[in-house]
Parts: sequence; C-alpha cells; structure tokens
Amino acid sequence: MAAFSEEIVHWLEAAEQQAESRFREIDRIVDQNQWKVIEAFQRHQVSDYHFAGSTGYAYNDRGREVLDLVYADVFGAEAALVRPHFASGTHTIATALFGVLRPGDELLYITGRPYDTLHKVIGTPGDGSGSLQDFGITYNEAALLSDGSVDWEIVSAKITDRTKVIGIQRSRGYDWRDSFTVARIEEMVRRVKEIKPDLIVFVDNCYGEFTEEREPTQVGADLIAGSLIKNPGGGLAETGGYICGRQELVNLAAYRLTAPGIGGEVGAMLGTTRGIYQGLFLAPTIVGQAVKGSILAAALFERVGFQSRPGWQDARTDLIQAIAFSKPEQLIAFVQGIQRAAAVDGHVVPEAWDMPGYEHPVIMAAGTFIQGGSLELSADAPIRAPYIAYMQGGLTYSHIKFGLLTALQTMKDRNLL
Ligand SMILES: *Cc1c(COP(=O)(O)O)cnc(C)c1O
Repeated sequence: MAAFSEEIVHWLEAAEQQAESRFREIDRIVDQNQWKVIEAFQRHQVSDYHFAGSTGYAYNDRGREVLDLVYADVFGAEAALVRPHFASGTHTIATALFGVLRPGDELLYITGRPYDTLHKVIGTPGDGSGSLQDFGITYNEAALLSDGSVDWEIVSAKITDRTKVIGIQRSRGYDWRDSFTVARIEEMVRRVKEIKPDLIVFVDNCYGEFTEEREPTQVGADLIAGSLIKNPGGGLAETGGYICGRQELVNLAAYRLTAPGIGGEVGAMLGTTRGIYQGLFLAPTIVGQAVKGSILAAALFERVGFQSRPGWQDARTDLIQAIAFSKPEQLIAFVQGIQRAAAVDGHVVPEAWDMPGYEHPVIMAAGTFIQGGSLELSADAPIRAPYIAYMQGGLTYSHIKFGLLTALQTMKDRNLL
C-alpha cells in the first residue's frame, strides 16, 4: 500500500468533503444519461447478435445499422454515423467538414482558434496538402472576447453570403478559457440562425459527451462530431469516432468517409461492435467518475494553493481540468506523479520532449489501456509560463484519487509544495 504523508491525506479528505455536494449533482446527471442510453438500447431492441461484427463489404450489418440508430437516439439527432474507421477525433471532424463544405464556401469558427490538430485540416490556400483551404474552401474565425464569450459584433460582420458552416468548439481544449455549456451553445445557435437561417452549425463535441443532460444536437446544432476514445467510448471502444445530426448532412459525411453513392452502407466492423455498444452503455457512468475526479482535483489543488480552472464550484461541460503551477519543476512532478499511479506503464517516467507541431517541450502522462485514450486518467503540459497542467479522465474515481495523492506526494518529496 502506498504511503502518503498525513498532511496530504488530510488535504484530500477535506477536499473530498467540500466536493460532496457537487458529487450529488453529478450523480443526477449520470442517472439521466445512463437511463437515456438504456432506453435507446431498448427502443432499438439491441440483442447479442448485433455484436457479432462483419467482414468484407459488410452489407446489411444489422449491428452497425442499429448502432447508428442508438447513437442518433441518445444524441437527439435524426441520424448518426458511428464507425471504427475514423482513425481519430481529428479525422472524424475533418470528414464532417469536408462532407458538407464545397469550394467557394466559407467555414467560420466563432469560438476563437480551434483545437491544434485542426489547423492543418483548415490549412492555407494552395498548401498542396488537400486541406480545406487548399480545396478553395475559405476559413475565418472570430476571436473570443477577453471574458471568454463570443464576440457577436465580429461574428455578424464576418457572416457573408459565402458563409456555410459555423464552427463551435464546446471544450476549452488546452486553453485557459471556459468551455461552452450546452445552454450557451443553444444561445449561439439561436443567434447565428437569426443572422442567417440556412447556416449549418457544427459543434466539435470532443470531451463534452454526457457531462450534461443535453447534447448540442438537442438544442439545435445541425451536426456534431467526437472521438470514441474519449467520452462516448466508455473506455471500451478500441478506436473510432461518431458524427450525429441532420440526415442529409450525416449522409454527406458518410459519402466522404467511404465514397459518394456508397456512404454508410458498407464498412466491416470486424470485432469492434460489442466494445462500442458496451462502451456507450458505460459512458455516462465513467464520465461521471471522471468529472468527480476533476472536481476533486480542483478542490484539492485550490486548497494547496494553486489556481484551478474550472474551479471546484463551477459548472462543467467537459472533462478537462487545468491547474496552474508557479514553477516548471512542480508541473513536471505533477505529471510524473499521475503516471506513477497508472495501472499500465506506471513504471515509466515521462520526460518533456519537443513534440512535432508544438513550440515548447511537452510532457505527458498517459498510462492507458487504449493508446492515447483520454477518457482514461492522463495529463499533458507544455513547459512554458504560466505552468499549466491539463488533466482529464479516469475510468474510476478511486484511480483519480490515487493519482492526485501520488502527484502531491511526488511534489512534496521534491520539496515543491
Ligand atoms: C481531442 C480533441 C480533438 C481531436 O481529437 P484527436 O483524437 O486528438 O484527433 C479535437 N477537438 C477537441 C476539442 C478535442 O478535445
């Protein structure tokens, strides 16, 4: 049994007690979402033969067809495309955007600069990579105001005849800003449609699923996308992504994923189907564990004297917990401590390295069953001031607690507290 100093255990217990009232709120969200998922399974009469998987073209794979129906139902959408053939969240989002945009159209992101991996998808005109802009789809964005809200003056000015898709990123990603709750997304949808009713509102829903009782497609978003190795995969989906939304738009995305005329009617699931179903079944509960862990982390590190965002009392709409340290050594000890608490690769010591595409060295803790699976407990941090660690996930609350205790103990052992 790991030994933690008395002081650290005391902090943890106090933080846990403080977070207790929030935990009751999370339990209620879990119940709503867990029941919503079970009822969707029941409505579509999911049976064990649906889990069999398929080979070759996989025409009439009933498990795949019903999976799409169940996802559409859970997300309150007309249609869904849930596939292991999406290699990552970025691939899924790119498929959705390329599916609906045509040369001459414009994509306008209204929540500031999108997530890092999307920059190359957007690209630059003539970059030769086959990016959106290389294909003659133009791109514009409206930076957020200093209070983190949408700058409507700029957005109205930037919406033109050519604007076809409005991009919204629900999660803060790795920025020190607030995430957008579903209620705020509802307001955004209403306002952009007032300006131009035929705009397609696309939401990057990564990290957001099941953190609230509603999803963006239930408040007017036309199309959303996310990764199965984050929230909705429940830690069991081995790979993949999903797109949900209006039937016509999901069809266009399916044409892009496979080929025009073929769409979602082919695609062998191989052995992935049961994991995707069972992962969806578990997702609301696992997401609840992760959110409780994030709230505990915020309460604990605030108590120890570090700033956390969101704060332990703040509303949550994604899994990411940012903690600001004052020295790089603290950041490194924190991330190494999280890794030390992992069941997989707990013996490995992460070091900062110059990752391609990043301006500063990055250190990451990821002791996961699914490579890069960030519904599992993980932490990332660029080594630059202000020294912010972004942690997310955890399949069990107890593991997250163990991770936080180990991280604090690692910091204490190095005289960094
Ligand atoms: C994770 C994430 C992505 C991209 O997903 P990958 O699986 O890393 O390609 C895009 N947007 C947001 C907000 C994310 O959190």
